Amino acid sequence: MLAVDQAISEQVVRFGAGIRHHILDVLEEIECQRALVLSTPQQSDAAMDLAAGLNGHIAGIYTRATMHTPVDVTEDALCHAREVNADCFVALGGGSTTGLGKALALRTDLPQIVIPTTYAGSEATPILGQTENGVKTTLTDAKVLPEVILYDPELVVTLPPAMTVTSGLNAMAHAAEALYAQDRTEATTGLSKEGLRAFVEALPKVLADPQDIRAREETQRGAYACGAVLGAVGMALHHKLCHTLGGSFDLPHAETHAIVLPHAVHFNAEAVPELLAPISDLLGGRTPGVALWDFAKSLNAPLALRDLGLTENDLDRATEIALSKPYWNPREITADGIRALLQNAWSGEAPGT
Ligand code: NAD
Repeated sequence: MLAVDQAISEQVVRFGAGIRHHILDVLEEIECQRALVLSTPQQSDAAMDLAAGLNGHIAGIYTRATMHTPVDVTEDALCHAREVNADCFVALGGGSTTGLGKALALRTDLPQIVIPTTYAGSEATPILGQTENGVKTTLTDAKVLPEVILYDPELVVTLPPAMTVTSGLNAMAHAAEALYAQDRTEATTGLSKEGLRAFVEALPKVLADPQDIRAREETQRGAYACGAVLGAVGMALHHKLCHTLGGSFDLPHAETHAIVLPHAVHFNAEAVPELLAPISDLLGGRTPGVALWDFAKSLNAPLALRDLGLTENDLDRATEIALSKPYWNPREITADGIRALLQNAWSGEAPGT
């Protein structure tokens, strides 16, 4: 099992089946009495179950968390938090719910406990993306890093198989880019390798048996490792492309990451093959981008951006936007190179074909 006690932040991080039931102890440790539980509308039942176990330590439940953290939802939740006199936030859900908790913490400086139910990894970063008037902006602030994470594998068994795969590949994308990050350290490279290994080994197991709690716990340890490196080092081409496609073409977050990852890795492997070699080592020999594409295919992951609604006509504009603000990448970024990469990702071909 992945040893993540090599943590690189100050967070309290606990793993284990049923760990959510220890939340009263956690509230005592952080000296809070009035938790506001957060969730999406789709996960309100899980939020209510959690709240029912809070025995007098509950201020309220807010179940309107939304993708991309719209500022109007945050302001509505903030009014509610003030009305009920909340002294901490408990976010139960994926990156969208965690995002709401972070946005509230930014505005109040109250502590956050996150109980993640996807592998997106937002709970392990001091990064917050928020949307206002259709524009998403991202900030990094220590106030936003959650104080406590409780990874309970019993809560991820409900993650549908398709989302299990795309969310897992989303997490692996953080680790893949951390392998060649300019500001990488030995610790971040070690965590990246561990995170990738956890998903390579455990994703096929959870697909074969979604109720496999041990394998689910391994994926959560992988998610923490991948999230921790996302928060610790700079990302490059892959994340830039996904932000472009998500922000300007409204493509879904995890699916877009899953499709673009093999292509971005293939592109960068030409410049830094030795840094990306751990991926081929884990997946069995092929070049890292092709190995990731084969892995994704074996898990029935989506492979083509056109299946997400992107049109071929959008590819030129996507290339232009991706190139518009210069950013560091291990391989020089050219319009022709990015356009060719996007063409393959759009049509669902293996990278480099
Ligand atoms: P999500 O939180 O939007 O969840 C997608 C849907 O799946 C929601 O309806 C949710 O309720 C449901 N769901 C989640 N877990 C479930 C479970 N176990 N069982 C059943 N249904 C479940 O998806 P996500 O991919 O986790 O998060 C995406 C968002 O997170 C994006 O806005 C992205 O920008 C953000 N994000 C931020 C960071 C960061 O560091 N700031 C990192 C990663 C992602």
